[in-house]
Amino acid sequence: MEDLQIYELSANVLNGITKDLNESVYAPINGVLALKWSTEPTFNASASSKSGIKDPPDHEICLHYELVRQLYRDIEGFCDFYFQQHTTDWWSTFFNNLDDAPPLFEFFTVEQCSHNMFVGALTFVYFHELGHLLQQHGYIRQEIGGNEQTRIFESKVAGDAILRGKQSSVSHVTELCADSYATVKCLYELMRHFDDNKEELRVALFMLVCSLSCIFHKFSDEVDCTPSDTPVGSHPNPSIRMELNLPHIYELMDLIAEPSGHLMNRRDLVHLCSRASDSSSLYQIAKNGLSKPENDYQFIRGLLNREDDKNYLKHIVETWDEIEGMLREFTIDGSELDYLSFSKVFREYVNS
Ligand SMILES: [Zn+2]
Repeated sequence: MEDLQIYELSANVLNGITKDLNESVYAPINGVLALKWSTEPTFNASASSKSGIKDPPDHEICLHYELVRQLYRDIEGFCDFYFQQHTTDWWSTFFNNLDDAPPLFEFFTVEQCSHNMFVGALTFVYFHELGHLLQQHGYIRQEIGGNEQTRIFESKVAGDAILRGKQSSVSHVTELCADSYATVKCLYELMRHFDDNKEELRVALFMLVCSLSCIFHKFSDEVDCTPSDTPVGSHPNPSIRMELNLPHIYELMDLIAEPSGHLMNRRDLVHLCSRASDSSSLYQIAKNGLSKPENDYQFIRGLLNREDDKNYLKHIVETWDEIEGMLREFTIDGSELDYLSFSKVFREYVNS
């Protein structure tokens, strides 16, 4: 696909979603949501609110053309890599503890996989920005985090200081909130498209998780991630983002199992999503010129098996508890499933 076609496809997809959101969410409260495009040649997206916290919302989501171009190219690279590797012996050995992958290429060509994964990834980025806006994260970052910047950027802007302490904790938690919001919306989109073909739904979920992992790595500057005791910078690392998103996917899929009839139990979901995420992690490792992983930090282990992230996760839970009241109070069009939540078992684990 030519670059120009990537821009056209992106504009078509997002113009449609923006129109729907204006009609269903913004117009009834006299608000407006605008989609803007930036020609600045950096991999970035941002969200900003121009209205007061109690006024009708005047929101803007800005995507850089360079973001959609690089995102498409990265996903295209992943699909080629996956197509070449998924039938090899080393791949089978690496994944021998997990169930087989759904048969992507029985349903789609490599090009169709790239196209579908890209549309899923693009939709996720857009809903992530929308989550920042509807949950008023700019305001919360100012009020509780003490952050001066109200526009929320997804990649560090050159010259900006690296966030630390409270500012960083509130930034990380609101990023996880936006991920959670976007994940729920993307899953509903999947349901709408694939409700009459269960095997295709498995394939679509697999592709969505692969694309989420690609996005998280792209937004982390594609550098190797390592555990840290406290939040640093604006965003959690890709492993943390994925590990916190997956339980949300499992819960929602469990909840809609009956109406959608998808037949995947919890074990099937864990195997499918772990395989998808780890497939992308192997791609990231190959992109960095390594033939095998240096450690298992970026592979899915489940939140309760991430001892080296425990202190970090304790910060996340404590910060969520601190912002939850304000976030719920000011959220526009909120639904219970959109919010971050931590189980009793997880809370006990981080405090043990
Ligand atoms: Zn964000």
